[in-house]
Amino acid sequence: MRKFRTALLTGSVVAALTLTACGGDTSTEGAEAPSPETETSFEAGTTMAELSEAGTITVGTKFDQPGFGLVNLENQPEGFDVEIAEYIAAQLGIAADAIEWVEAPSAQREELIQNGTVDMVVATYTINDTRKERITFAGPYYVAGQQIMVNADDTTITGPEDLAANPDVKICSVTGSTPAENIREYLAGPDQLVTFEVYDDCVAAMQNGQVQAMTTDNVILTGYVAENEGEFKLVGEQFTDEPYGIGIEKGDTAFCEFINESLQQAADEGYYEEAWASTVGQYEGTETPALPEPDPCV
Ligand code: GLU
Repeated sequence: MRKFRTALLTGSVVAALTLTACGGDTSTEGAEAPSPETETSFEAGTTMAELSEAGTITVGTKFDQPGFGLVNLENQPEGFDVEIAEYIAAQLGIAADAIEWVEAPSAQREELIQNGTVDMVVATYTINDTRKERITFAGPYYVAGQQIMVNADDTTITGPEDLAANPDVKICSVTGSTPAENIREYLAGPDQLVTFEVYDDCVAAMQNGQVQAMTTDNVILTGYVAENEGEFKLVGEQFTDEPYGIGIEKGDTAFCEFINESLQQAADEGYYEEAWASTVGQYEGTETPALPEPDPCV
């Protein structure tokens, strides 16, 4: 079930959707694509002026996370993170089809920002102090929490506290993610944790029996539960807070403030809520959030 809308519906995208309509569900319900601002004016030398002038922005996001960033059959990422990035781009006068998308696996995000490969990262990216040593975060625009996913018929693991008592249960997460670090204190030993570069590989390892559990943010796991009907379930309560920020070059306070203002405007216009409803909000068990208060840009 991939019901999320694609990027701005240009003629060619509509044609592509029509052509592939028999190959699967290609409905495009959801938030109206944001119209790019036509009258932008930014102070010379700012990141906003540069991007607006260039008419394009490079955004790092996930390519394998249903509901947040998942590449569709037309090779376009879609999901809540994508919608948020599209809105910010529109405030810079950049249309959705002029965005360049780069896959940003968890462990590579700071590096992609620091080496200038991307202008910003919108990728289920938890704000924390370690990461803030290398980059600046705008936001948060959502607060998730870590949870555990097991096979639908599993009765052994009911939460993180059951892991140490069941050392044969392997739990999977992603290198460079906060959940991979947070889970360590609950394990019988370091070998109980299996890590891959992206979450898709954990899902595959669940399916072929190499691991019996997976951990990351609840809303990400909810997507895998929904997209693999009857196979998996979430257990226990969320046991961390994961505030999602937008990663940008360290110290770019003006861009950070611009992003925070854009997020507030998205909420005021109802775009934020619609973007949620048309993406991750379609999954059972998710609740429409209110935009959190922004952290100060420092
Ligand atoms: N929000 C967590 C993090 O930033 C987990 C999700 C992810 O790996 O993107 O590490």
